[in-house]
Amino acid sequence: MAMSALFDIEDGMKYVKSDPAALQFELGRCYGIEAWVERAFYRLMKDDLSSLTLNEVSQIGLTGFFWLARTKARIQSARNTIAFNVPPLVNAEGCRTVERCMEAWKCEWEYSVRQLLHHPEQPISCVDLLDQLRNSHIAGLCYGCQDLTVTWLWGKSLFTDEERFVEQAIAELMKVQRDEPIRAALRDSVAGVKIEIPL
Ligand SMILES: [Zn+2]
Repeated sequence: MAMSALFDIEDGMKYVKSDPAALQFELGRCYGIEAWVERAFYRLMKDDLSSLTLNEVSQIGLTGFFWLARTKARIQSARNTIAFNVPPLVNAEGCRTVERCMEAWKCEWEYSVRQLLHHPEQPISCVDLLDQLRNSHIAGLCYGCQDLTVTWLWGKSLFTDEERFVEQAIAELMKVQRDEPIRAALRDSVAGVKIEIPL
């Protein structure tokens, strides 16, 4: 890849771009290509960490693995909180079926939303969940109550934090990337310093 970049060999660059996420992540960090780090991180976020091979973990590195594990844990924690707690229904002014709307909302959350958030293979993201709640009518719920409640949820950061967690992790990774030469230079500069410890 270094040779491809150096001599601008397009085939070589295309090969790397289509390579597995762990390698793309390693090369992105190694050569400071933020777009690759970002793309690979998003791809790795979709994988189960336990499915990674030792070689892939080695390519991702300790710092990368730390941010992957932390970001996944933060997102999972937010989804668990959302799935467990049924948000209150915001009743529309003039709603004539308050009781029925409240019951329909509770049922939707307990029997549908929880399953979507905890799906073993393709759990829905919180933003996609809100999109789905906005674009499909919930049986038994009046349109006014549904619209007001979903709009209210869009304003809650708990539902929109996932993207922020990922962006923060990528920013931290790129910060370390920029710091690495400085820290390496510092290590070299203190390597020859003799430290005397009094007995
Ligand atoms: Zn209603």
